[in-house]
Amino acid sequence: MDPWEQMRTTKRDESHYYVAQVCPNGHVANDAVDEYPQRNQQFCSKCGESTLTVCPGCEATIRGRYYVPRVSESYPSYCAPAYCHSCGRAFPWTERGIQAAIELAAEDANLTPEDVEEFKQSLTDAARDTARMRLGVTRLQKLLGKMVAGTANAVRDIVVNLLSETARKAIWPDRP
Ligand SMILES: [Zn+2]
Ligand SMILES: [Zn+2]
Repeated sequence: MDPWEQMRTTKRDESHYYVAQVCPNGHVANDAVDEYPQRNQQFCSKCGESTLTVCPGCEATIRGRYYVPRVSESYPSYCAPAYCHSCGRAFPWTERGIQAAIELAAEDANLTPEDVEEFKQSLTDAARDTARMRLGVTRLQKLLGKMVAGTANAVRDIVVNLLSETARKAIWPDRP
């Protein structure tokens, strides 16, 4: 019996997270490696980078889809986690996304260097589920309103996957 097969059999009766395979840019190759190893991609089909199944910081497996026994498989779409549940470090896609969003903001003609600095802090706050999240969200909304529309949209496309559902709904209530 191969090791994944064994894991499938022993784990079928308890709720657990499957292991996810994600590339450093946050593209999900497989949200249930242990259940569907045939879906694995050594390299990301969207960007060509090597995919990961463990946290580069602590080697804990990346949490994939949540499995609940005897519940039929109709799940909301899976999103790679922003931070490692085991060591708390930001995953590479979180760091890259935040960095790319900051660089975009820095290009925006409507923002002053102080605004860009505030954007950086607000985005970091908004991306973490802490007491400062609401403050980060409020400041982000203000700064997004100040940006050129094109930049604001580009920033949204990047950061939408880095924020928690609560933060996302607060900033873009109309988006599913
Ligand atoms: Zn990729
Ligand atoms: Zn970790």
